Amino acid sequence: MQYDVIVIGSGPGGYVAAIRCAQLGLKTAIIEKYNTLGGTCLNVGCIPSKALLDSSEHYHNAAHAFEGHGIKVGNLKVDFGQMIKRKEEVVAANTSGIAFLMKKNKIDVHTGVGSFKDKNTIIVTKADGAAEELTTKNVIIATGSKPSSLPFIKIDKKRIITSTEALSLNEIPKHLVLIGGGVIGLELGSVYARLGTKVSVIEFMDSIIPTMDKALGRELQRVLKKLGMEFYLGHKVTGATVKGKEVTVTFDDPKGEKGELKGDYCLVAVGRVAYTDGLGLDKIGLTVEERGRKITVDQHLETSVKGVYAIGDVIKGAMLAHKAEDEGALVAEIIAGQKPHIDYNLIPGVVYTWPEVAAVGQTEEQLKAANVKYKTGSFPFRASGRARASGDLDGFVKVLADAATDEILGVHMIGPRAADMIAEAVVAMEYRASAEDISRMSHAHPTYTEAMREACLAATENRAIHM
Ligand code: FAD
Ligand code: NAD
Repeated sequence: MQYDVIVIGSGPGGYVAAIRCAQLGLKTAIIEKYNTLGGTCLNVGCIPSKALLDSSEHYHNAAHAFEGHGIKVGNLKVDFGQMIKRKEEVVAANTSGIAFLMKKNKIDVHTGVGSFKDKNTIIVTKADGAAEELTTKNVIIATGSKPSSLPFIKIDKKRIITSTEALSLNEIPKHLVLIGGGVIGLELGSVYARLGTKVSVIEFMDSIIPTMDKALGRELQRVLKKLGMEFYLGHKVTGATVKGKEVTVTFDDPKGEKGELKGDYCLVAVGRVAYTDGLGLDKIGLTVEERGRKITVDQHLETSVKGVYAIGDVIKGAMLAHKAEDEGALVAEIIAGQKPHIDYNLIPGVVYTWPEVAAVGQTEEQLKAANVKYKTGSFPFRASGRARASGDLDGFVKVLADAATDEILGVHMIGPRAADMIAEAVVAMEYRASAEDISRMSHAHPTYTEAMREACLAATENRAIHM
C-alpha cells in the first residue's frame, strides 16, 4: 500500500495529524501498537484521570459540602469498583470515538508496532509476529512518552506504581506516599485524598508545581493541606523498598538529615520520558537526545531526515495533549504546502485539582529574570458573587501586563473552573489585548469570569470594582 502520510502512534498528536492530513486530501494511514486508539491521553492519561477526579469530587462534596447547602445524605459510601468501572466506560467511549473518526475520514488503521525499514518503508509487526510493509512519501512520528522513574527506584507496578497503575487500583490506599509534587502527583493525590487516603507528597523543589508562577503553588498547597494532604518540600528521595504490603520511602530533608515515610502504596510521579523503543530510528540515521530521549526537530517539526516529522511528547516542549494536537495539525498543513504557525508561549497549562489551576504566558519569575517592567492586577474569588454562591472561595486571578503598553503578558489563576476560564486569556493574548481591553468588555454576571475582568481592572489603574 502506498500512502502520502503514515502516522506512527494514535495519541492526540497522531490522530489529529491523521485527520488533518485526510481533510487536506492526503492518503493517510495510522499505526498503533495497542488495540485501542487515543494513546496515553485517552487510555491512561487525561481522560481517565479526569473521570476519577470528577467522581471523587462528587463524593467529597457529598461528604463535606452538601450539608451546608441543606442536603442531608445518610450512610454515604464509596463503591470504588463502580468508580473504576465508570472510568473504564468513559475511556472506552472516547477511544471508540477515535476509531469512528478514523473511519469517517477514510484513514487506514494498522494495529501493530511500527518501525522504519527505510525512510519510505514502515514495517508493522502484529502481536502474533506477522509483519507487513507499507510505503509512504512522509512519516509523522507521534509515539509519545512513558512514565520515568528515579535510577534507584524499581517500579514493581503493585506497591511502587506509576500513574498508569494509580488509575486502576482495586482498593483505596490507606497511606499513599507520592514522589513528585507536579501535575500527576497533585491530580491523582487529590483523587485519593478526597476518598479518605492519607497522602504525603515528597517534592525535591521548594514549592509544588514548581514550574508555574510561585503564587499558584503557594495557594494550591494551602488548599490541599485543608484536604489533609501533607507536604515534604525540598526533600530528596533516596530510595523506596517494598516488604509485604508496606512501602518505605527514604529521603534527605532540607538540612541533609535522613528520614523515611511508610505507606501501603508509593506513586512515582517525577516526569515522563519520550518513547521511541522499537521504532528503528537507527535505520534512518536518527538518534535521540541524551536528556529526555527526545527526537530533535526543526521549526517545521521535521527531523534531519527529509519527509520524516515528529510531534507531541516525543519532541521538545510541554508534554500536553493540546500541544500535541496543535503540532499534529501544523505538520499536516506543512506537508500540504501551507504555512501554519504555533505560538508556544500561548499554550495554556492546567492542573485539574479543585480549585483548578490554569496559566498562560509569562510567570512573574520569568518577567523578573528577563528584566521586563510589568504591573500586576489580582482579584480573589472570595470577592466574587458567583464564587460566594457556589462556596468556592479559595484562589484568585492574577494578570501581568506590560508597564508601558498595558499588553497582557501572563495570566495565572487558581479557582473554580479556571481550566475553562483560561481560554479567555489565551484569546486575549493571541490578539495582543491590553488589560484595559478586557476590563472594558462585558462579562456576564454572576460568573467566575468576572474575576478575570476585575484582575484586568486592577492591573489597568488599580480600579477593581468589587474589592
Ligand atoms: P501519546 O498520547 O503518548 O500517544 C503515543 C501513542 O503511540 C501510544 O498509543 C503508543 O502506544 C503509540 N506507539 C508508540 N510507539 C509505537 C510504535 N512503534 N508503533 C505503533 N504505535 C506506537 N495532558 C493534558 O494536556 N491535559 C491533561 O489533563 C493531561 N492529563 C494527563 C494525566 C496523566 C495521568 C498522564 C500520564 C498524562 C496526562 N497528560 C495530560 C499528558 C498527555 O497525555 C500527553 O501529553 C499526550 O498524550 C501526548 O500525546 P502524544 O500524541 O504525543 O503521545
Ligand atoms: P512534572 O514534571 O509535572 O512533575 C514532576 C515533579 O517531580 C516536579 O515537581 C519535580 O521537581 C519532582 N521531582 C523530580 N525528581 C524528584 C525527586 N527525586 N524527588 C522528589 N521530587 C522530584 O511531571 P509529572 O507530574 O510526572 O507529569 C508528567 C507529564 O505529564 C508532565 O509533563 C505534564 O505536562 C503531563 N501531565 C499533564 C497534566 C495536565 O495537563 N493536567 C496532567 C498530568 C500529566
